[in-house]
Amino acid sequence: MRQSALFISHGSPMNIIEDNPYTRSLKKLGKTLSKPQSILILSAHWATNGSTVSVVDKPETIHDFYGFPDSLYDVHYDAAGEMSASLLLAHLTHSKIDRRHGLDHGAWSVLVHLFPDHNIPVFQLSIDLSKPAPWHYELGKILSPLRDEGIMIIGSGNVTHNLGDINRDEDAPVAKWAKEFDDAFADALINNHDKIINFDLPYFDHAHPTLEHYLPILPILGSQKEGEEVTTIYEGFQHGTLSMRCFKIG
Ligand code: ZN
Repeated sequence: MRQSALFISHGSPMNIIEDNPYTRSLKKLGKTLSKPQSILILSAHWATNGSTVSVVDKPETIHDFYGFPDSLYDVHYDAAGEMSASLLLAHLTHSKIDRRHGLDHGAWSVLVHLFPDHNIPVFQLSIDLSKPAPWHYELGKILSPLRDEGIMIIGSGNVTHNLGDINRDEDAPVAKWAKEFDDAFADALINNHDKIINFDLPYFDHAHPTLEHYLPILPILGSQKEGEEVTTIYEGFQHGTLSMRCFKIG
């Protein structure tokens, strides 16, 4: 059965241990999804020059964040790696192979809520920062047939991400620019992917001073087949400017 593709805004690492409307929505979604054969993740926190695929038997949990409570560093995600589809993916995408890379927090911080049983193999494809946005969208067309083989694809980033302009208060009022960006994004998601590919969204440079949290959106969108629906999983903000919008294709 063809699997879904998801884009998940991951926000602050505090979401790993918090119970809030966002984490509850991921937990709820996880219970409704059919169990995939394996999960391919493209995360903002594994961005490289050139594409790389992780081909690792037992990926370790990477705690790639600093200055958070000890309890976050005690959380591990103990799923197996994926040793055959990962090699096929490296071949299809002309990627390098990394036999050591574990799961970065962009990957496991969403998996702990979506698939809390740790019983589905996981592998990652890095975000190639040397490539332009249309390339990332076209990559989705190469990844789309993997979904027919029972592989779920998850992009993990943020619809808006400017860490220089966040409020310490998780529930701070939403900044005007972030709301405008998010509204335009939600509309383009349904009606006009070109606007997303061409960064034709209000305040784009302020919403994404760097692109690593935005680019994982594009291959997820690019994997959409004719007739497949886009469904909103969650919409809302944290820290005044982080759009936590998540969506599902198929
Ligand atoms: Zn992040």
